[in-house]
Amino acid sequence: MSIEICTIGGFSETGKNSTAVKIDEEVVILDMGLHMENYIRYTEDEDIRAMTYEELLQVNAVPNYDLINDWKDKVIGIIPSHGHLDHIGAIPFSASIFPKSPIICTPYTAEVLRSIFKDERISIPNNLISLNLNSIYKLSENISVELVNMTHSIPHASMIVLHTPYGKIVYANDYKFDRQPTLGKTPNFDRLQEIGKEGALLLIVECLYAHEHKKMPSESVAKQMLKDVMLGVHAEKKAMIVTTFSSHLARLKSIIELGNKLNRKIVFLGRSLSKYVTAGERINLIDFQKNITLVKHRDRIEKILTKINKEGKQKYLLVVTGHQGEPKAILSRMVRNELPFKFENGDVVIFSCSVIPVELNKDNRDKLERQIRSKGARIFKDIHVSGHAAREDHRDLIELVKPKHIIPSHAGQDKANNLASLAEEMGYKRNKSVHLMEDGKRIILK
Ligand SMILES: [Zn+2]
Repeated sequence: MSIEICTIGGFSETGKNSTAVKIDEEVVILDMGLHMENYIRYTEDEDIRAMTYEELLQVNAVPNYDLINDWKDKVIGIIPSHGHLDHIGAIPFSASIFPKSPIICTPYTAEVLRSIFKDERISIPNNLISLNLNSIYKLSENISVELVNMTHSIPHASMIVLHTPYGKIVYANDYKFDRQPTLGKTPNFDRLQEIGKEGALLLIVECLYAHEHKKMPSESVAKQMLKDVMLGVHAEKKAMIVTTFSSHLARLKSIIELGNKLNRKIVFLGRSLSKYVTAGERINLIDFQKNITLVKHRDRIEKILTKINKEGKQKYLLVVTGHQGEPKAILSRMVRNELPFKFENGDVVIFSCSVIPVELNKDNRDKLERQIRSKGARIFKDIHVSGHAAREDHRDLIELVKPKHIIPSHAGQDKANNLASLAEEMGYKRNKSVHLMEDGKRIILK
């Protein structure tokens, strides 16, 4: 009788997050994510396309579920923590390996999945169950799942809490502690404190910024940064183009507010923007389309850009896909003159994001920025605050939850080490109570 963890993906690299937890003879899978760099290298797009699990496994873009072949028939639930593709993006391709297992997630995450299935005409045999934040769902006689409200960079992010006969397992992948969010509620600190009092057996926690000795600034700081640029730059007669993460509805909300202040007509261009915005509107999280025109299809995008060129681009604020320089996204296509838009001297391009530090993205972004500059346009970079916790947030989390064991996640050994050293500062012992894992490793917890 025991708990065994198999770290399937996201423990030797950043991406394809997935962890299996075996509680006696039942298994729960937490997250089923894509490796975005490998996926985009293969598809040249950040959007999900219909493909097979096998071809994606070959290019190392999905978690390898052969690693739990012996647990396959025991899986009773797939639980994605939030709607980012490095946490849900492998579901369309690999959930059917566990056909009887329901997928349980927050309403926004479920809505994003539904959009992906519909857009790509993908059907999976699994039941999709949406569970409200701060609610509990009984998976079996012995296991329940609770989704605790968290802040991150997408709506309805949750910290997953598995209730087991051996204690609670807390999965904090991804989160940040934002006390001044611009969309949605503050994290449920009270519940985390209760969990700490009730006793947590294990905390699986992201470690991307565990080396940064700070508290990650609030999303309201990013809003100020955007305001500074959008309202502060002299560009009255120029085009203004903003690009950011399509799923970052809080950021998009700030961009819309500022666009309204500028009295520019706001136009969103691109498939993935349409996907995440419509998903948010369907569950009444936002009502952006009161204030914006949302264009998804290629021919309509060409039509509206022609109209904008004619009417005067200074009257518009364009929000487009392509913040990482993805070759097939709107911004890259605009710059390559594949769309009817002419950049001119002094036009403004704002990157409300950071470059995800992998070779492919760095190369794509370098190329894109060179092309933008060659047309005389001005670039404003890094108008952004991360959605991930930093070292001092992790310290607060560990103090709140007081787990017996800690496993760092969401990156390879270097970054996991940073989280482990923080745990050691707090009295944990390597290999006894803080465990560095790799993809495919297993550990039994007592
Ligand atoms: Zn995330």
